[in-house]
Amino acid sequence: MNDVFIRRVGGFPRSIEAVTVVDSNGDYNVLLNAAIPPHRQRQAFRHELAHIRLNHFESLEPLQINELEAGV
Ligand SMILES: [Zn+2]
Repeated sequence: MNDVFIRRVGGFPRSIEAVTVVDSNGDYNVLLNAAIPPHRQRQAFRHELAHIRLNHFESLEPLQINELEAGV
């Protein structure tokens, strides 16, 4: 598995809890919304990790399928 970097960032809309970006090294950068409470950040991080473990970033499945597989 490639490296996973975690960063808390400001300026996200509240409705977006986390975003994962794959960079040119193939590493995963999980950006957590700094404005949401810490327990929600942890939950969002687990959700993003599930996407990473399930290889959803290389998956051609529709987004809804991947979201169901990753769980909430
Ligand atoms: Zn998701």
